[in-house]
Amino acid sequence: MSKKYDTPLLDELEKGPWPSFVTEIKKAAKKSEMANDELGQVEKSYRTKRGYWKHGGIVGVLGYGGGVIGRYSSLPEEFPGVAHFHTVRINQPSGFYYSSKALREICDIWDKYGSGLTNVHGSTGDLVLLGTTTSALEPLFAEYSSRGWDLGGSGSAMRTPSCCLGQSRCEWANIDTMEICHQLTHKFQDEMHRPAYPYKFKIKVAGCAVDCVAAIARADCSIIGTWKGKIAVDQDAVKAYAKGGMNIQAEIVDMCPTRCMSYDGNALSVDDGECSRCMHCISKMTKALKPTGEKGVSILIGSKAPIVVGSLLSWVIVPFMKVEPPYDDLEGIIRKIIEWWDETAKPRERIGEVIEIKGMRGFLEAIGVPPVPQQIKEPRKDPFFFWKEEDLTK
Ligand code: SF4
Repeated sequence: MSKKYDTPLLDELEKGPWPSFVTEIKKAAKKSEMANDELGQVEKSYRTKRGYWKHGGIVGVLGYGGGVIGRYSSLPEEFPGVAHFHTVRINQPSGFYYSSKALREICDIWDKYGSGLTNVHGSTGDLVLLGTTTSALEPLFAEYSSRGWDLGGSGSAMRTPSCCLGQSRCEWANIDTMEICHQLTHKFQDEMHRPAYPYKFKIKVAGCAVDCVAAIARADCSIIGTWKGKIAVDQDAVKAYAKGGMNIQAEIVDMCPTRCMSYDGNALSVDDGECSRCMHCISKMTKALKPTGEKGVSILIGSKAPIVVGSLLSWVIVPFMKVEPPYDDLEGIIRKIIEWWDETAKPRERIGEVIEIKGMRGFLEAIGVPPVPQQIKEPRKDPFFFWKEEDLTK
C-alpha cells in the first residue's frame, strides 16, 4: 500500500452511533489501492469544497450500452488509484433475495477486479459495485456472466425493474410481485442493455399500497397490488384493539383519507364504495381487517426524484387490472406508454414531465385507456377530459 492519508474531516463522519461509510472505505482501503486513494480524494474534496470526479464517457462491455457508469478522477497524478473509478450495476434478484453463497461470489469477483466497495442497494434496484478500471470491465463481466449474473440498466434506458418481496413473506401482498418483476425484466432485456429512450424509465412493483419499494415516489410506471371486494371486519378483533389501548377514532377513522370509516365506540364499519385501498387501516389493525374479493393491480404513471426539474408523485391511470402470468397484458400497456413517451419527449424528459406539458388527455388517447373518475388527481381542478362533438351527437 502506498500513501496513508490523514483524514481529519472524514473522521468526523465516524462519530456517533450510526454506521459510517467512512469506516467501510477505511476497511476496504487496508487491501485496495483504489479504496485508499478514494479516501485521499474525498478528504481533499471536503477540505477544498470542490468535487474531483468526472462522470460520463463511453465505457462498457461489448454488446451492452448500459450497466457501467463511467467515472474518472480529475486528479489522476495525485490519486492514481482512482484515475478510473467506474460503477458497475448488477441486476438484482426479485425481492433482493441473495444466498450468502451468492453474495460471497459477487464480493470475491469484485475484490479481484474492483475497489471492494459496494452500495447494496441503491434506490435504482441494482446491486451497485463502486470503482473499477476500463481494462477490468471485460474480464469482470465474463466472470459474472459465466456464473449467471447480468448487468442492470443505466443511462437513457429501461432501468432494472424492482419489487417488494411480496407473497414470499408478506401477508398483504395482493399480487406475485416477484414473478411480475422477474417476467418484466426478461421482457425488457434489450431495452435495459441498449439505451435508446429519451431518458430513464423505471418500473417498480409493490404488492399493496404500503409500497415498500417507494414506487409511487420513484417509478415512471408503478404497479401496485390492490383488490376489488370489501374490507372484511372482525368486530371481536376490533374490540380487542380498543381494549389494548388503541384509539380507533383518532388512529384509524380520522386518518382515513376518504373518510369512509366510522366507529360508534363498539363496532367499526367501512363504506367500501368510498375506500381508496390506501392500506392505512389494514396495516394498523392487521388482525381485524382484511381485503377480500378479486385481486389485481393499479397502474400509476410519472413519478420521479428532483433531478432535472422538481419531483413528481405517481398518478393513477388504470385503477384495476387483473394480471396473470406471463403478464403479456401488462407488458402491452407498458410498451404503449413507452411508445408515446419516446415519440413525444425531448431528450432528458421523464414521462411524468411530458404528461404535465402535453396533457393527460392526449396521453390516455394514445395508449387507449379510457378516462375514469379514479384518474382525477385533484378534485375541482380543470378536468382533462374534453367532450368531442361526436360524443355529444351519439
Ligand atoms: Fe408487503 Fe405491501 Fe410492503 Fe409489499 S408493499 S412488502 S405487499 S406491505
